[in-house]
Amino acid sequence: MQENIIIGAVVFIFGTLIGSFLNVVIYRIPKGESIAFPASKCQSCQTPLKWYHNIPIFSWLFLRGKCGFCKEAISVQYPIIEFLTGLIFVILYLKLGLVWYLPFVAASFTALLALVMIDFKYMAVPDNVNFAALLFALVQPNFLDAMMYSAIAAGGLYLIGLFSSFIARREAMGGADVIVAGTMGALLGFPNFFMALFLSALLAMIPAMIWRDKGVPFVPFLALATFIVYLYNTQSLQLLDTLIYG
Ligand SMILES: [Zn+2]
Repeated sequence: MQENIIIGAVVFIFGTLIGSFLNVVIYRIPKGESIAFPASKCQSCQTPLKWYHNIPIFSWLFLRGKCGFCKEAISVQYPIIEFLTGLIFVILYLKLGLVWYLPFVAASFTALLALVMIDFKYMAVPDNVNFAALLFALVQPNFLDAMMYSAIAAGGLYLIGLFSSFIARREAMGGADVIVAGTMGALLGFPNFFMALFLSALLAMIPAMIWRDKGVPFVPFLALATFIVYLYNTQSLQLLDTLIYG
């Protein structure tokens, strides 16, 4: 018990460090900048950050959300992403235990979190982060099944997209959604992939009605539904079983 709490804390801290890197991905990839160089600096005064300005969550709190040099406000998005990434890592650890593929599943959901943030901001997602989520999702014990489900899910969604753009005479689904579907297929398998697809449509319904004119990014709902169904995979299968066979 006590051991689990210690491991959980370590997993959380590790997750927040990955979250720190994720902030760099979210900020730089859409601008076409390198994620490796240069080192982090203040966006306002351009002063390179000291190591103690880079401690996830804590630095932001202890600097009270301001740059240590020029006192310009630092977005609360940074500590929130760090916290969320830590949380994703811990929740997946609690779900899976300390299995060898835990880092890959966590990396896949972390990449999805980056896509969500970028989609909210730009209403488009970068292919490289999207493919990273897919590749990480494929690294698991039943690799061949994951490959197959991923291919069928992506292919199926691609065909639905072709068909509905033919009917609607406009682009109904982007290529990015097809790659996300591949990730969902790999992580969830069948039939839970369909459960997540259905859940994402359900989650997106009200926001889509409220912001009808502006349009609603769909990746956040796909990602959230995937995470929920991944965590409750057995319950989801039971629910489907009850729905189909009574
Ligand atoms: Zn500054």
